[in-house]
Amino acid sequence: MKTKLCGSCGADQLAPFSNETFEIEHGGQTVRVAGLSGKRCTACGEVYFDAKSAKKYAAAGDKLVLDEREAMSAEIRRIRKRLGLSQAKAARITGGGHNAFSRYERGEAMPLPAVVNLFRLLDKHPDLLKEIA
Ligand SMILES: [Zn+2]
Repeated sequence: MKTKLCGSCGADQLAPFSNETFEIEHGGQTVRVAGLSGKRCTACGEVYFDAKSAKKYAAAGDKLVLDEREAMSAEIRRIRKRLGLSQAKAARITGGGHNAFSRYERGEAMPLPAVVNLFRLLDKHPDLLKEIA
């Protein structure tokens, strides 16, 4: 590693570490990534992974994001079908574009939290659909 100064605080106190385990948290899920090496600033705690570890850490983070998107797609589809809504009607109710639900359910886009929250409420209280549909 060429870096001699901490890119975060500017201190000249980078110390090597090796074979450590880091946790990544995303969307309520946590994954542990073991065997990571690099340098750590002893002044501010900033971590600089070596190239191999950075790749490993990034891949684990990407997988968490994809897993979350997949779980969200499945949940949105399940609730929409339970409510007996077409994708077009679900989009009209939530204000998305006409193909919004197609994109959510294929994992091409993440629905806004307001859409997810509305669907979760309707999942628990499907009788309320008649108030808005
Ligand atoms: Zn630092």
